[in-house]
Amino acid sequence: MKALAFLARRFVAGETAPEAVAAGARLKARGILATFDLLGEDVLDQAAARRAAEASREILRLVPKDVERNISIKLSSMGQEISRDFCLENAATILDEAKAVGGFVRLDMEGSKTTQSTLDLFRELRKTYDNVGIVLQAYLHRTADDVKEAIARGDRVRLCKGAYQEPASVALQSMDDIRANYVRLAHELLDKGNYPAIATHDESLVQDTLDHTRRAQIPAGRFEFQMLYGLRPKRWDELVAAGYNVRIYVPYGTHWLPYFSRRLRERKENVFFVLRSLLGG
Ligand SMILES: Cc1cc2nc3c(=O)[nH]c(=O)nc-3n(C[C@H](O)[C@H](O)[C@H](O)COP(=O)(O)OP(=O)(O)OC[C@H]3O[C@@H](n4cnc5c(N)ncnc54)[C@H](O)[C@@H]3O)c2cc1C
Repeated sequence: MKALAFLARRFVAGETAPEAVAAGARLKARGILATFDLLGEDVLDQAAARRAAEASREILRLVPKDVERNISIKLSSMGQEISRDFCLENAATILDEAKAVGGFVRLDMEGSKTTQSTLDLFRELRKTYDNVGIVLQAYLHRTADDVKEAIARGDRVRLCKGAYQEPASVALQSMDDIRANYVRLAHELLDKGNYPAIATHDESLVQDTLDHTRRAQIPAGRFEFQMLYGLRPKRWDELVAAGYNVRIYVPYGTHWLPYFSRRLRERKENVFFVLRSLLGG
């Protein structure tokens, strides 16, 4: 387990909030923004969900003023499985804290069984808060409709491909189809959305975003790129040097195994990195 934890350090900033904040400060020194994510999902009892919310409030308080107070949370760790009202109340405590410190909270999107419930909870929270955003996944068949609705409501959307294994009944299966859908949805969000986040390491999609925004004369300040901690760090610097906003998702905490496994499943290069490290390379 110790060896795994060591390898996970490429993708996870540390086990504690101060380690994550230190990573955020290092990014800030390079002109890069951060969103902090306390790892953990599928919490099934109220005490654990309350502890998760308290930890999220703690990091909002810990991040220094000059590093933006921006966090990402998973509603499954806030009590989504326990009850709608409990989850809403618990998430609202984080949004209140974020509001008090001028921060922003992004609701991550999880597996398709929770998509509708996550969107319902998000819309409920949006009635009271404007410092909350959502994630939409380009692999889901439903996302074209969700993008339209988000644009109509002025919601801040992070667009990603989607990281969970989903059946063909709900999600596109081939990478070509997912990319094509990503491009369509990204253009809509870039043209008409509220400060969308283009969250991908896929160079063809990064390049398409650069080309499309140049063609459509969309200023660089109207959107941001987002990438994950540990993935394509040189590209972050290049994009910042070219005048684009880049935000890195900085995960931290002791529950890093499911997150680390998703990163390994996703890309053979990530597995090669781990193998290389094991072989001492
Ligand atoms: C900030 C952020 C937040 C996210 N939040 C969520 C969420 O809430 N819910 C969710 O389901 N998913 C989330 N994801 C994960 C996302 O859905 C994808 O699973 C993940 O990003 C992998 O897809 P990709 O588009 O980045 O590229 P991939 O499909 O992994 O890679 C495609 C291509 O990208 C290029 N590429 C990738 N990495 C490199 C590299 N290191 N060097 C050079 N080229 C490279 C290669 O050309 C590769 O063929 C998030 C991702 C990001 C970046």
